[in-house]
Amino acid sequence: MIYQKVALIGLGLIAGSMAHAMREGGLAGRITGYARSQDTRDVAREIGLCEVCDSMAEAVADADLIVLAVPVGAMGPVMAEIAPHLAPGATVTDVGSVKQSVIDAVAPHIPEGVHFIPGHPLAGTEHSGPRSGFASLFRNRWWLLTPLPETDPAALDRLGRLVRGMGAKTDMMEAGHHDLVLAVTSHAPHLIAYTMVGVADHLRRVSGEEVIQYSAAGFRDFTRIAASDPTMWRDVFLHNKEATLDILGRFTEELFVLQRAIRMGDGQHLHDYFTRTRAIRRGIIEAGQDTEAPDFGRIAGASAAS
Ligand code: NAP
Repeated sequence: MIYQKVALIGLGLIAGSMAHAMREGGLAGRITGYARSQDTRDVAREIGLCEVCDSMAEAVADADLIVLAVPVGAMGPVMAEIAPHLAPGATVTDVGSVKQSVIDAVAPHIPEGVHFIPGHPLAGTEHSGPRSGFASLFRNRWWLLTPLPETDPAALDRLGRLVRGMGAKTDMMEAGHHDLVLAVTSHAPHLIAYTMVGVADHLRRVSGEEVIQYSAAGFRDFTRIAASDPTMWRDVFLHNKEATLDILGRFTEELFVLQRAIRMGDGQHLHDYFTRTRAIRRGIIEAGQDTEAPDFGRIAGASAAS
């Protein structure tokens, strides 16, 4: 057992998966949880996700680890509310997809004697809510920790052991660098998927059902990504604004170059470009972050970085 009592604030995909994984690994003595709506708390109780509390104060009382697993925009207000109820020596971590803005919002509310270690599991699916979690979500996925200069090494080591106990691999990164890397690997791709599905939806209004009926693998994968939780992703873009806009600017430039190659019939350019991008895919497979299987290897329950 690594922590006596872990409190999960927010009971969705990530917190739910943590509850399953911690239980499976015997990593926590007790697991308590809180979600803001009665509906979510009722479902979590019904499926026995954890000891569900009706207030955040009750959930975090005497907890030695508190996990903020709410949308990025809710992290600051949630932290302000739980701060007076935290036990001395406790560790607060978060699982938000953006790091610098979460640090800016959360760190000022951390009481003296409480550790704060921001984190981000690069694992997710397009599903949300308390029923969507599963124990193997983090297996063989990266879990990035973005400690602050004053972070206590013993507290960091302990959280790292919990994360690895859930099957993930840990790495450390500076928060601003994290946000730029994730803008490239996750945030901009999500926005592009949302846009592509939006374009198809517009076309569907013109051409009836055809887009859905004849959807091919590429488009289907876009629709999977574009089905991701609207609140979570609204907050990601609002809180990783600069990095996402930077990457989208570069994306637009590249798109213009490819558009021009198509217009000019420059097959050599297209072929060279696609040869380079194919190598990236091979690198991801070699790094063990996806498989060669059809449909991008996403069998039911498989995870993708978010
Ligand atoms: P989720 O399934 O939508 O669950 C979010 C939970 O937060 C729900 O229990 C919700 O309660 C609660 N919540 C929402 N707004 C709140 C507020 N203002 N105050 C208190 N509780 C609130 O979300 P998730 O996918 O687990 O994501 C949680 C965090 O993990 C986000 O910060 C996200 O960026 C990050 N993350 C997500 C993924 C992914 O792929 N999904 C991957 C890595 C990291 P109600 O149900 O009662 O509204």
